[in-house]
Amino acid sequence: MKETTWLEKAAPGIADLHPYIPGKPIEELERELGLVETIKLASNENPLGPSPLAWSQAQMVVGDVNLYPDDSGFRLRNCLAEFHAISPDAFILGAGSSDVLNMVARAFLSPGVNAVFSAHSFAMYAIYTQACGATAKVADPLPADHAEMPYGHDLDAMLAQVDENTRVIFIANPNNPTGTWLQRDELKRFLDRIPADVVVVLDEAYTQYVEDERFPDGIEWIADYPNLIVTRTFSKIYGLAGLRVGYGIASPDLLGVIGRLRAPFNVSLPALAAAEKALEDVEFLKQSILTNSEGMQQLEAGFDALGLKTIPSVGNFLCVEFERPGGEVYDALLNKGVIVRPVANYQLPNHLRITIGSRNENEVLLEALREVL
Ligand SMILES: *Cc1c(COP(=O)(O)O)cnc(C)c1O
Repeated sequence: MKETTWLEKAAPGIADLHPYIPGKPIEELERELGLVETIKLASNENPLGPSPLAWSQAQMVVGDVNLYPDDSGFRLRNCLAEFHAISPDAFILGAGSSDVLNMVARAFLSPGVNAVFSAHSFAMYAIYTQACGATAKVADPLPADHAEMPYGHDLDAMLAQVDENTRVIFIANPNNPTGTWLQRDELKRFLDRIPADVVVVLDEAYTQYVEDERFPDGIEWIADYPNLIVTRTFSKIYGLAGLRVGYGIASPDLLGVIGRLRAPFNVSLPALAAAEKALEDVEFLKQSILTNSEGMQQLEAGFDALGLKTIPSVGNFLCVEFERPGGEVYDALLNKGVIVRPVANYQLPNHLRITIGSRNENEVLLEALREVL
């Protein structure tokens, strides 16, 4: 059958789906352009590599991969319980936190109901919502010339989108791709105003990078809000994106429903082992935060010198604005062996999202940009 005919048979929502566009892998670029020294600042990966403790632990267990992993992730959930000082029953594991986001969507979204999220927020919210045949209600962001948080989430606008058919609200804090964030007080006030039967997903993929005192730790709210699920990942600061492991934290009642959708053995054996050790790698986390804040200063100064505006970010990436379509600058940088991320599909046609790399990678990027502009 033809693709168009298959689409007629597909579940509601699938025909209109625009699949997630991942950052181009380094090997692909090198193959296409015959380049050798390429760098990738496209997927918010950790430039320091994986946590060394996690990496050596993964290597230790690779010889056991003829065996299925522990389905419940008992050991990792216990490590997480100790790490966050919360009961092991409050955790659900995923093959990356996107796996958890997907489970939440499938548990609560279907044709006739809706999910609310902000414009310029993580692309997977729209994809999972649509894949379930549900409606996406997208709130307008704060304006581009907002004094404190340009392009940020407007919580009042989000609240205004919530109606009797809303089942899920997705919030990324900090947000990707903008790097904007929400303060403890405003987010708590928002939670207080959300009906108790609407699931709030607080996606904290980049939380470890944020140093501001006013930045909240959503896990502290789990006991008070039975409709809240906080998601975390080992992909970003822990440097384990390729292993695919993340988790959700919520009340056991809520997890009982979401957990029905978890595929058996969804987290691989090396991923479970690595994640346990990553939690102990305090030194690596410290180094990663330091590298990121130095890289942030380096890039901000570099962009400033090039006359480029950025959206103030607390993540490990920066959205940079150009005077022409971001896609053009992206192509030009690709030709110089530097992979960044176009964000036109996030309604930011003139921006590019650039991951903060190592000192050297940042320098290469800035040099390439100088030549391109
Ligand atoms: C990277 C990212 C994730 C999750 O990535 P996984 O690799 O699936 O854990 C989730 N939310 C946001 C906002 C992200 O940027």
